[in-house]
Amino acid sequence: MTPRPAFANCHSHAFHRALRGRAHTGRTFWGWRDGMYAVAGVLDPDLYFRLARATYAEMACAGIGAVGEFHYLHHGPGGRRYADPHAMAEAVIAAAREAGLRICLLDACYLRAGFAGEELASAQLRFAHADAASWAQDVRELAARHAGDPAVVVGAAIHSVRAVDEASLALVAGALPEAPLHVHVSEQPAENDACLAATGRTPVGLLADAGVWTSRTTAVHATHLTAADVGILGRAAGWACFCPTTEAELADGIGPSVALRDAGARITLGSDSNTVIDTFAEARGLAMHERLASGDRQGWDAAGLWRAATSDGAASLGFGDLGGFDLAESVRTAGATEPIWAATAADVVPPPELDPQWVRAELRSVVDEVWGRL
Ligand SMILES: [Zn+2]
Repeated sequence: MTPRPAFANCHSHAFHRALRGRAHTGRTFWGWRDGMYAVAGVLDPDLYFRLARATYAEMACAGIGAVGEFHYLHHGPGGRRYADPHAMAEAVIAAAREAGLRICLLDACYLRAGFAGEELASAQLRFAHADAASWAQDVRELAARHAGDPAVVVGAAIHSVRAVDEASLALVAGALPEAPLHVHVSEQPAENDACLAATGRTPVGLLADAGVWTSRTTAVHATHLTAADVGILGRAAGWACFCPTTEAELADGIGPSVALRDAGARITLGSDSNTVIDTFAEARGLAMHERLASGDRQGWDAAGLWRAATSDGAASLGFGDLGGFDLAESVRTAGATEPIWAATAADVVPPPELDPQWVRAELRSVVDEVWGRL
C-alpha cells in the first residue's frame, strides 16, 4: 500500500447522486435538468442530510478529504423559508462532518430563471432569494456560525449569469470578501448565446466588468470560452474547476484546460453531478479530453494532475493539508509506477471509520426513498 495525499473535490451537488443510473431522460443538458429539479423538489432537511451523508461517505471511500458543495437548495416547497433559514445548509454540513470530510459550503445566490424574466419553475422557488441583499444577509449569518471551525469553510457562489442579474453581481461577489467565491460559467453554448443577446458580452466578460474575477474566484466548467475569456481568467490568477465526467455525461463539451493553465489560472477538479465519484477518473478525463480536442498528448503530466486533484483544489476551497489515504495494489495498478494513469476509486483503502457495506446499503436505501417520493 502506498500513502497518497487526499483529493479535494471542488464542485459537488450532493443531491444529484440520486440520479445516477436511474434517469437518462433528456437529449441535452436542459432536459436532464428537468429530472434534477424533480429530485430537488422532494428533499427535506432530513432526507437531504441522509442523501448527502451517504454521498460524502462514498467520497471519503474514494480518497476525497474535502468537498466544495455548491449549495442552492435553500428553502422549503414553494420557497417557504424554514424556521432555521439554514436548515438545508446545516444538513449538508452535518452530513460532511459525519462522513469525515471537510466541507466548503458555497452558498449560491439565485435570483431569477433567466435573462428574459422567465418565471421561476417550482423547484427554482426553493433556490431563490428575493434579492441579493437578503441572500447576503443569510450567507454572512451562516459564515459567522461556522467561523473558526477548521473543518468548515463558508464561501459564496454566483449560481450563474442566468440566475443573478448584472446589477447584483458585485454585491454577491463582495458579500464574504475573504472567502472562496465560485461561479458556474459557460457550461453550455445556450448560456453564452443568451448572455451575448441580453448584454452584448460573454458570461466571463460580464462577470469581469462586475469585478468577480480575483485570485479567490473559481470559474466552474469554463467550457465554451473565447480567447479573450481565457485571457481574463488567466490574468485574474484564480481557479478553473473542471468536472470532466459530468461534462461528458451531460454533453457539455470540452473546455480549454491547458490554455487556461498556461494563461495563469490554476485548474481544479470536481465530481459535480456525482454520476461518477472517482478523482482518478476526473484527472484522467481532464488529460484525455484535452488530447481528444487538441491532438496533442502532452498537455497534462502526472505532477500537474496530482496538483489539480490535491493541493490546488484544497487551496481553492480555503483548506491546507487534507491528510491522505492508502492506495492498494490491484489488477489495475500492478506494474504501474504512476497510479494517476491507472488507479480507480476502488483501489483506495476506505478510512477505518467507514464500513463500505454500510455506505452501499445506505446509498441504495436513501436513493430508493428519494425515488419513492417522486
Ligand atoms: Zn454545478
